[in-house]
Amino acid sequence: MDLKIVLLGPPGCGKGTQAERLVAEMKFTKISTGDLLREGVRLGTPLGLEAKGYMEAGRLVPDELVIGLIKEKLAVTHGPVLLDGFPRSLEQARSLEKLTRIDMAVDIQVNEDKLVHRIVMRRSCKSCGAVYHLEFSPPKHADKCDKCGGELYQRSDDTEQTVRARLKTYKDQTLPVSQFYREKGVLHTVDGEGSIPQVYERIMNTIKKG
Ligand SMILES: [Zn+2]
Repeated sequence: MDLKIVLLGPPGCGKGTQAERLVAEMKFTKISTGDLLREGVRLGTPLGLEAKGYMEAGRLVPDELVIGLIKEKLAVTHGPVLLDGFPRSLEQARSLEKLTRIDMAVDIQVNEDKLVHRIVMRRSCKSCGAVYHLEFSPPKHADKCDKCGGELYQRSDDTEQTVRARLKTYKDQTLPVSQFYREKGVLHTVDGEGSIPQVYERIMNTIKKG
C-alpha cells in the first residue's frame, strides 16, 4: 500500500505527536516542510542550498522550492506517506495535487480555548526539535529532551495572545484547504479532544475505514 495522507489540524491540536506515532507504529514516512528544509540544508542539495539562502535572509521559502523538495523526497520514499504541515494554503494544495495523488486528508479538530491551554504548556527541544507538553506528554526529566538530552524551552510566541492570532491565521489559510479536500471527497474529520491514545485510535479507525 502506498497510501498518501495529509494531516491537517490547528497549532496545538497534537498533530505532531500523532504523526510520530503513525510513523513508529504504522511505518509511515513523515514528510514535513520543516524537516525537509533542515535535511536539504544539512545535505547541501541544490534545493536545500537555495532554501538556506531564503531562510538566512529571513524570507519565506517559496512554494515551488518546497514542492521541489517534496518531489525529491517522494521519489526516494516507499510505503505509506504522511504529510504534516503541508499544504497550508489552497495554492499549495493545488500544487501538491499536480505532483501526487492524495488519498486522504485527516483533519484533527479541537476547541479553540483548549488549544490555547495546550500551546502555552508546550516545550520544545533546542537540539532536535522534539515537542513535549507538560500535561499530556511530559519529558521524563524536567527541561531535558528524552530523545537527545537537549535543553527544553518555551517558544517566545507560545503566549495566549500570539496563539490566538496564529489560530486565526491558520483558520483563514487552511479552511480553503480542507474545503479543497472535501470537494475531492477525501476529507475526514477527527475529534482531537481527549488523550493522545484516544485521538490516535480515532485516526487509525479513520484510516482503516478509508
Ligand atoms: Zn532533543
